[in-house]
Amino acid sequence: MADKFDVIVIGAGPGGYVAAIRAAQLGLKTACVEKWVNKEGKTVHGGTCLNVGCIPSKALLESSHKFVEARDHFAEVGINVGDVSADIPKMLEFKNQVIAKNVGGISALFKANGVTALEGAGKVLSSKQVEVSKDGDKAVYEAEHIVIASGSVPVEIPPTPLTEGLIVDSTGALEFEETPKRLGVIGAGVIGLELGSVWSRLGSEVTVLEAMDSFLPMVDSAIAKETQKLLKKQGLDIKMGARVTGSETNGKEVTVKYTDAKGEQEQVFDKLIVCVGRRPYTQGLLGEDAGVKLDERGFIFVDDQCRTSVPGVYAIGDCVRGPMLAHKASEEGVMVADIIAGHKAEMNYDAIPSVIYTSPEVAWVGITEQDAKAAGIEIKTGSFPFSANGRALANHASEGMAKIIADAETDRILGMHIVGQHAGELIAQGVIAMEFGSSAEDLALTCYAHPTTAEAVHEAALAVDGHAIHMANRKKRK
Ligand code: FAD
Ligand code: NAD
Repeated sequence: MADKFDVIVIGAGPGGYVAAIRAAQLGLKTACVEKWVNKEGKTVHGGTCLNVGCIPSKALLESSHKFVEARDHFAEVGINVGDVSADIPKMLEFKNQVIAKNVGGISALFKANGVTALEGAGKVLSSKQVEVSKDGDKAVYEAEHIVIASGSVPVEIPPTPLTEGLIVDSTGALEFEETPKRLGVIGAGVIGLELGSVWSRLGSEVTVLEAMDSFLPMVDSAIAKETQKLLKKQGLDIKMGARVTGSETNGKEVTVKYTDAKGEQEQVFDKLIVCVGRRPYTQGLLGEDAGVKLDERGFIFVDDQCRTSVPGVYAIGDCVRGPMLAHKASEEGVMVADIIAGHKAEMNYDAIPSVIYTSPEVAWVGITEQDAKAAGIEIKTGSFPFSANGRALANHASEGMAKIIADAETDRILGMHIVGQHAGELIAQGVIAMEFGSSAEDLALTCYAHPTTAEAVHEAALAVDGHAIHMANRKKRK
């Protein structure tokens, strides 16, 4: 029997590495097991988020955004740069440097906080034993508490099996060495829109095939409509109600067959990205006697505080219910470490923000107007367009709007939805307001710095009671 720990965390993604660091900070003897091996054969921390998710995708988003700004928009504000071209290998090199820096940072944090990094695949043998195996070697470690943070993997669908270099998932779409001329994307979800936008900005003709009829149903419909309009203007051809039925490859191209309202269709692409969701990853994780139950969709079953069916064993992040978001995983990691250390801790699942990093960004927290209607909640709303915000105009980024949903009687903020430049930064106001139980009037009475795009949120809060200052058609003050 090898070492004994207070806590063993399985998985070093944003759920697991944060849980491990927090547990160590709280004085618990902690180990974190990770099996991810990079192309150089080195075990790396950071999981999906740092290696093939949030961070690399944002590096490419930013590079491609800068490219379009320089090519199409610099001249509009008086900067002449001549011919602008995209150097894709250089962009990939930059993205890989960003990954390396982030991944190295986690290893350094483990060292600084005294977290023992165990390399290999972890398996829960019992409530107090974890087996770690690597290259045929096995060791069993004892732990008072186990935290499972094994994450998720992309969903594959039978009509479009992944085909090296031609039909790829999100990981493959971060590696294209040149811009595909005709790019197909299956799924108008978060990944489809983000990576579709990246390659569209870099010159691909992008067609997105989405099975559902409604676009971004989780976002307030006014914001979703505005987003769809903006993406269409940027050249993304988003086909709604398109059900993919099959595909054929000839080594160079992919022919995708789908049905839509008009009947059977087919379209030929140079590359196809399949991004139709992710599923929890639990392969090889649970030993026969582990006793940890899964739910009907394959997620590890947990209660509100991430306790599994086995006392002392917790699970967090993408492998459990709830949105598949890095910050949700990390917050659950903090909560679980606090609980293990004997502190009171809970999470407010109603105030988890979401951001789609298109350009402009889409961000939201809380309920939508359509959710409120469906639940019979009486609400009032306030919206404000970025086109009436001085800073957005000066930034040459006046597309989009902010919308606040408040309880009709109490004025408490129930939701905030934004499409516009830096919406992902602006949404923090909605999250904080909701965490503090603020009313729309609380935001309306707050002094905002001028000129900032945050003032669009201020004006939306003022608009909830019809008092927006920079809007001509405001209601009469009561
Ligand atoms: P993961 O990050 O998946 O980490 C799980 C880790 O556990 C992995 O390292 C895995 O190797 C390890 N593991 C699994 N089983 C074992 C085992 N048996 N033994 C040892 N190790 C094991 N979210 C956002 O919030 N913002 C974004 O901008 C964003 N962008 C994304 C872009 C893309 C392209 C993708 C694919 C995802 C994106 N996400 C984003 C989602 C985000 O990456 C996930 O929600 C997040 O990584 C989940 O964290 P996690 O710790 O639960 O799991
Ligand atoms: P998603 O659930 O966001 O979107 C998948 C889309 O594919 C849906 O609109 C769905 O209707 C559609 N779809 C499913 N099957 C289909 C089919 N057969 N044909 C056509 N369309 C089909 O999933 P995703 O975009 O793959 O992202 C996976 C997860 O990763 C999400 O949960 C997301 O939260 C997370 N993620 C987050 C970010 C971010 O926070 N910015 C970025 C990327 C990924």
